Formats: sequence, structure tokens, C-alpha cells
Amino acid sequence: MARYTDAVCKLCRREGQKLFLKGDRCYTGKCSIVRREAAPGQHGQSRKKKSEYLLQLREKQKTKRYYGMLEKQFAEYYEMAARKQGVTGENLLQLLESRFDNIIYRLGFAMSRPEARQLLRHGHFTINGKKVNIPSYLCRAGDVITLKETSKSSDKLKSVIEANASKPIPKWLDLDRNTLTGRIINLPAREDIDLPVEEHLIVELYSK
Ligand code: SF4
Repeated sequence: MARYTDAVCKLCRREGQKLFLKGDRCYTGKCSIVRREAAPGQHGQSRKKKSEYLLQLREKQKTKRYYGMLEKQFAEYYEMAARKQGVTGENLLQLLESRFDNIIYRLGFAMSRPEARQLLRHGHFTINGKKVNIPSYLCRAGDVITLKETSKSSDKLKSVIEANASKPIPKWLDLDRNTLTGRIINLPAREDIDLPVEEHLIVELYSK
């Protein structure tokens, strides 16, 4: 599958806020947003009048980049959300949150979503006892996610888990730190998702 391979800090600078795509570095003074907030490129410093369309576009781009997706895949999630019962914007965020790579990140097994994607592609995790290495796999309420026994001795994973030991786990997830087993209590409602996103703008954009 195609993926974005350019410098990820550019994406944060384009959106004018931290998207937390680089793990540790995002929390230090080395973060590009802290050092250089202007958007990348020759006209990055120029002030643009924000039209309604531009606001909607930026909100969609920001959300897409948070979850590390390309356009086509994101549009497919939107269509899935629109087909479901309920509020489309909230359905969209719930679908994105239930991606396997996001759950690994939320459980503190990775410092960022890109890192979660890499770890699970390497087959470090199981869902309900079965190895799953598909980042876009949509988890369901009741699913049990476990770090494989053979991966528990990995220095990389040990250091990430230790670094995240004090990170709060969202209330819709549960983590047993002794067995390194996570469980999805229920899929998140909008108020459980701490993303600074105005999802109604995305819906307006796709509804045109
Ligand atoms: Fe974004 Fe992290 Fe880079 Fe800062 S360090 S600009 S938050 S990816």
C-alpha cells in the first residue's frame, strides 16, 4: 500500500499544531512546531484568508494525518461512517479510533501511531490469541490484545512500555500491566476521544 515517506514534521507545520508523529521528540524542545511554527515552503509565512472551504479542508487533512492515512483510504472510512446509523462525524472518529495501530498506541505499546504500525507489522501482537499484523484491522468491543510472549523480552518494547507507564489509558480501554494484555471495554463515544478535531467540518466537506 502507498504511504507518505516525506518528513512528517512538515505535516505538523502545515496544520499549525502537533500531530505527535515522532514519539519522544514530540515532547521535547526539538519539536519542529516549537522551533518553527510557520507552514513549510516559500509561502509558509504568508497570511491566507481562511475561506469556509479551506477550514473544512484543513480539518480533514489534519485528521487524516493524525491517523497516518492517505486520501483514498480516508475517503473509504468516511463512506463507511456515512452508511452507519448515527452521527456521521462521530462514526468516523470511532472507526478511526478502532484501528489496530491506534489501539496499540492508545494502550502505550508505542510512542506514536507510526511506531505502532511498524511494531504490529512485525507481528508483536495478537488479537484474541491470533496473530494480526494489519494496521487497519478494525477492533471490536471485547477484543483482547496481547503482546506476544516472545516479544516481551524485546529491549525496544520494554523501553517504550516503561516510558509510557504513567501515561493515562483511555477509559474505553483496559490494560493489565502485569500480563501486558489490553482489552477494549467498548468503542469510544465522541467525548472519550481527545482529538482537537471539528468533525462536522469534514462532513461538510464530503457532503458538497
Ligand atoms: Fe510533529 Fe512530533 Fe515533529 Fe513536533 S516532533 S513537528 S509533534 S512530528
